[in-house]
Amino acid sequence: MFESLSDRLTQSLRSITGKARLTEDNIQGTLREVRMALLEADVALPVVKQFVESVKARALGQEVMASLSPGQAFLKIVQAELEQVMGGVNEGLDLATRPPAVILLAGLQGAGKTTSAAKLARLLKERDRKKVMMVSADVYRPAAIRQLETLAGEVGVDFFPSDETQKPVAIARAALEKARISFADVLIVDTAGRLAVDEAMMAEIAELERELTPAETLFVVDAMTGQDAANTAKAFGDALPLTGVILTKVDADTRGGAALSVRSVTGKPIKFLGVGEKTAALDPFHPDRLASRILG
Ligand code: GDP
Repeated sequence: MFESLSDRLTQSLRSITGKARLTEDNIQGTLREVRMALLEADVALPVVKQFVESVKARALGQEVMASLSPGQAFLKIVQAELEQVMGGVNEGLDLATRPPAVILLAGLQGAGKTTSAAKLARLLKERDRKKVMMVSADVYRPAAIRQLETLAGEVGVDFFPSDETQKPVAIARAALEKARISFADVLIVDTAGRLAVDEAMMAEIAELERELTPAETLFVVDAMTGQDAANTAKAFGDALPLTGVILTKVDADTRGGAALSVRSVTGKPIKFLGVGEKTAALDPFHPDRLASRILG
C-alpha cells in the first residue's frame, strides 16, 4: 500500500532532517522533491500546489524557526499536511435514521461495488450487530445479481432476489418494503455500473436515490485510477448528494494519488478502503494513521 509514494517522500525529506535552520533557500530543494513525489504519485495538480504552498508557509513560520530541531519539525509539518489533505479525521457511516437505513452504492463497472456491498454487510453484521439485507438493482448483468446472492450467503445476511426483467426502481421499492417488514436495520443496494459516468447511469441512480432517500450514498472507486478516481467521484457528486467514497484495491496501489486527491477534489470524505478481495478486507479510513504510515 503506497510503497512508491512512501519511499519517494521519505527520500525527499532526508536532506532536510539534519538541518539546524530552515530558510527559504534551503527548503527550496526539498519542496521541489516533495512536489515531484506527489506528482509521480498521480495526485491532482491543484492539490499538489496547495500542499506544497501550505508546507512552505508553515515551515517558514515562527514556531519552526524557534524549534530545537527544525528538520524534524519540517517532517511533522509534511505529516500534518498529508493528514489534512486526506480529510483529517475518520468519518464513519451515519445510519442514524428510522430503520431500515439504506446504503446506496454506485460506481463504474469493475470498481468493486458488489464486493464492497458484501464487505460492508459483513462489517455491519459483525462489528455493529446489525440485521442487514442486500439487493442488486443491476438488471443489465444477471451474473452481478447472482454474484451478490453468493456473497450474501457467504457473509450470512439476507438477500432480496431480483431479476433482469424488472425495473431498478421497482426492485428498490420492493426490497425496501421487504426490509421494513422483516425489521432489517440496514438495506444495502448495489447498482449497475457503466464504463464511464454517463447520463443514463446518473438518471438511473438519481431515480433510485429519490425512491430510497438513502442514509448513505457512497461512490465506489478504484484507487489504481489515481487522480481520475477523484475526478469521476466529483462528476458523480456534482449530480447527486454523495455522502462519501469507498476507495477500493488500495492493497494493489503503490502510488496513493487517489487517496490524496479525493477529499480535496470532491469535498467528500473517503469512508472506507478496500484492501483485498476477501469480504473481511475493508478498513475504516483513518487519515492520521495513513499519514504516519506513508512517512514510515
Ligand atoms: P463491480 O463491477 O463494481 O461490482 O466490481 P466487483 O465487485 O465485481 O469487483 C471487480 C473485481 O475487483 C473483482 O475481481 C474483485 O475481486 C476485485 N476487487 C474488489 N475490491 C477489491 C479490493 O479492495 N482489492 C483487490 N485487490 N481487489 C478487489
